[in-house]
Amino acid sequence: MTSAPAYDVLQRTFGYSAFRGEQEQIVEHVINGGDALVLMPTGGGKSLCYQIPALVRPGTGVVISPLIALMQDQVDALRTLGVRAGFLNSTQDPDERRLTEQLFLAGELDLLYVAPEGLGVPSTQRLLDRGRIALFAIDEAHCVAQWGHDFRPDYLNLSMLHERWPDVPRIALTATATSATREEIATRLDLAGARHFTASFDRPNIQYRIVPKQEPKRQLLDLLRTEHVGDAGIVYCLSRASVEKIADFLVQNGIPALPYHAGLDARVRAANQSRFLREDGLVMVATIAFGMGIDKPDVRFVAHLDLPKSVEGYYQETGRAGRDGQPSTAWLAYGLQDVVQQRKMIETSDGDLAHRRNLAAHLDAMLALCETVQCRRAQLLAYFGQPGDNSCGNCDTCLTPPESWDGTVPAQKLLSTVLRLQRERGQKFGAGQSIDILLGKTTEKVTQFRHDELSVFGIGAELREQEWRGVVRQLLAQGLLAVEGEYGVLVLTDASAEVLRRERQVMMRREPERPARAPRARRATTGATAAATPDLDPAGAQVFERLRSWRAAAAKEGGVPAYVIFHDATLKQIAALRPGSLAELSTVNGVGENKLAKYGQQVLEALTS
Ligand code: ADP
Ligand code: ZN
Repeated sequence: MTSAPAYDVLQRTFGYSAFRGEQEQIVEHVINGGDALVLMPTGGGKSLCYQIPALVRPGTGVVISPLIALMQDQVDALRTLGVRAGFLNSTQDPDERRLTEQLFLAGELDLLYVAPEGLGVPSTQRLLDRGRIALFAIDEAHCVAQWGHDFRPDYLNLSMLHERWPDVPRIALTATATSATREEIATRLDLAGARHFTASFDRPNIQYRIVPKQEPKRQLLDLLRTEHVGDAGIVYCLSRASVEKIADFLVQNGIPALPYHAGLDARVRAANQSRFLREDGLVMVATIAFGMGIDKPDVRFVAHLDLPKSVEGYYQETGRAGRDGQPSTAWLAYGLQDVVQQRKMIETSDGDLAHRRNLAAHLDAMLALCETVQCRRAQLLAYFGQPGDNSCGNCDTCLTPPESWDGTVPAQKLLSTVLRLQRERGQKFGAGQSIDILLGKTTEKVTQFRHDELSVFGIGAELREQEWRGVVRQLLAQGLLAVEGEYGVLVLTDASAEVLRRERQVMMRREPERPARAPRARRATTGATAAATPDLDPAGAQVFERLRSWRAAAAKEGGVPAYVIFHDATLKQIAALRPGSLAELSTVNGVGENKLAKYGQQVLEALTS
């Protein structure tokens, strides 16, 4: 049974009627002083797991978060709820810092956000010694994993929390974790005795789609124009240069877009991030430097124009879509060049053999996801150790099942081209030349090297160029072919020989003629959100729009992102209910006491205007 105070805080402060999933058990465990390791997908509701215990237990909840640039927003959002929150980090001016310290010492803070590097500073440690700490929450706990892409050295020092404050409960939270990462978190944070809570990682409202990359810019534009008009979203690119290029391209085509990458001036980055959070319908074009901790709930799509380096990365990035449980799209365009480029990057990367093997294993898992003919979601969940249904009905392979075909003969033709170039001529070439040879094209380069005299010249006319690129890509993905050196030339692997000797069959994926397009992505079927977002009739939709314009004005006046005031889901519910009194309004999910007092009257007026 949950303690009455926890429910009270849930309802009065946050305005929610029920806990979601395991929140209740986690909250209870931490209130009672237990340590916890919480794995929950993005949007699962991790914050309440430490915020409620911090409010219920005496003292201040200290939240360790790497997201310095977001602390102000997080604190603002809590203050709107009537929670006494503050932060300490290096961006603060001394007066602000002193004030926060005084509030903490006086016991007048419910939550205090601290950057991990701050905790290593003796003066901060002494400060914490002098106040009363309700709990430590270690957010984004996967940052402690040394192989991970978000590794932060300062996280390694966090095991000292337990040594210095043995009686304070600790709760570590993350949305990314294979079982290996989970073990690493538990070990490095000294959380061996903690209770583990693992939620389902499924995000049913996200529709996963991976399409062959042909003309990526046009494909992206198509996606935005046909399915995501006016929506907020994130487009991920690998390089800073392509970020700039794509952002310009979108703007030229009338889509409001902003760039974000580590090469931009810190002020520009902060300004762009802030606009993305505050304004409606902006597209952020970014490298993976963007996104951790972005809790904008209405990101409607995440598009990848380049192949992510691992399934963990892909899942984390796509997870930023649809935190509000509404239908959202995760779209990835993937092609031969991606495989060549990533393999090349691994081959020429610094680090020892073990490190390169690790990178290669991560890439292989990502490639397997791209090339699968099975349900993408099933494969993703299996990767995170949560096998489930074999068919989700809301990914491209479920919506438009691709055929698999026996590609052994084309594979042999391609491999023997590579073999002949090497054996007979002592040459290595990239994919393009081998394909030209197979197609019997007398290009300048073919003539120059007299490749039209090879016995394999012109033996591949049964496939089109695009299909041959698919063959090369899938051979690379399956490790039956490799790339080498600066130019990414093709070379055989040990396994190639098995194919050439006819000892191994090669199954391939045939892309559907028309790739899957959303029959509007499915709604969340789990969690509180689904029930909280009824479909509106035309009159209700009008009211919803009116409420949205009221919210935009209120957000502007208060200098906070619109969703800090009320989420879309809450506005929709208000639009459906059209409450006539404050008491009725207070029954809506997401309307807590503080927000009711602050905005209630304005909402009622917007409804009757
Ligand atoms: P996470 O940190 O796990 O990504 P959040 O803590 O930001 O997720 O929660 C995701 C969204 O779900 C937020 O908008 C939050 O207000 C909402 N939420 C969390 N718990 C509940 C609940 N019990 N009832 C209704 N909404 C909830
Ligand atoms: Zn599926």
